[in-house]
Amino acid sequence: MSRFELTVWGARGSIPAPAAANQIYGSDTSCVELRCGDRLIFLDAGTGIVTAGRKLYEERVSDFDILFTHCHLDHIMGLPFLIPLYKDHVSARIFAGHFLDDTTTCQAMVEGFMCPPYFPVKPKQFAAKIDYRDFRPPQPLDLGDGILVKTFRLDHPNGAVGYRVEYDGRAICYITDTEHRPGTLDPALVEFIAGAEVMIYDSTYIDADFERFVGFGHSTWQQGVRLCRAAKVPQLLIYHHDVSRTDDWLEELAAEAAAEFPGAHVARTGLTIAV
Ligand SMILES: [Zn+2]
Ligand SMILES: [Zn+2]
Repeated sequence: MSRFELTVWGARGSIPAPAAANQIYGSDTSCVELRCGDRLIFLDAGTGIVTAGRKLYEERVSDFDILFTHCHLDHIMGLPFLIPLYKDHVSARIFAGHFLDDTTTCQAMVEGFMCPPYFPVKPKQFAAKIDYRDFRPPQPLDLGDGILVKTFRLDHPNGAVGYRVEYDGRAICYITDTEHRPGTLDPALVEFIAGAEVMIYDSTYIDADFERFVGFGHSTWQQGVRLCRAAKVPQLLIYHHDVSRTDDWLEELAAEAAAEFPGAHVARTGLTIAV
C-alpha cells in the first residue's frame, strides 16, 4: 500500500498558546500535513506550518498543496513565514472555498492580510510559482496522482470547509471549525465522513460547558465520538484545543476520551498517524 499519513504541526485553535504548561501538546495553531505517496498537502497554515516549512526546505521539497478551511487568523497566520514560498524552485497550489460567498477570492484573501500596515511583505514577493484556486463546496477537487478531495460546508461564523482526502482506497477527514446542534447528528456530515480511517475534529469545548459557547462556531470531543460511531470511523483526532488547555488538562482528556472511544487521540505537535 502507498504511504498515506498525517502529521500534526499545530493543534491549537483561535490563538497560539506558548507556555511552560503546554510543552507536550504544543502551542502552535492549526496545521496538519498529509503525505500521499510522494505528494504533500497542508491542511491550513496556522503557526504550525512555520516549523513544517523549515523541514521542507531542508528536505528540498519543491511541490505541495495548501487547503484552507477558512481565513480566520489561526488558520492562515503561518503562511507569510512559510520559507519554501520564497524559493523559486518551488510550486504550490493554494485552495480556498468559502470566500466565494462574499466574492473574496483565495488570492485576494492572501493579498488582503499580507499587506502594509499589517505585514511588510506582500505575496508578490513570493518567489515560488503559486496557483491560487477557488472552489465552492461541495465541489470535489482532483489533485492528481489518485488524490481526490471532497469538500463540505461547515457551520462556522464566516463559513468554513471540511475536507475528506481520499487516496489509495483510504480516507482522512479534517472537520474544523464547526458547530453542532446538541442532541443531533448532521446526517450529511455522517455520510461525508463515513468509512474514513481517521477524522480530525474541532474539539474546542466539552459537552459540559458547551451551552455557554453556543454561536461561537465550535464543537466538542464528545460530538466527535458520536460522529465517529455513527459513521464507523475508527480513529478520532481531538483537535483545535482552546488556549486554556494545559498539558495536564489534555492528558486527563486523553485518558477519558480513550476510555470512551478506544480510537480517540489528542492531537499534539509532532504526532504522526499512518492509515
Ligand atoms: Zn480556528
Ligand atoms: Zn474559525
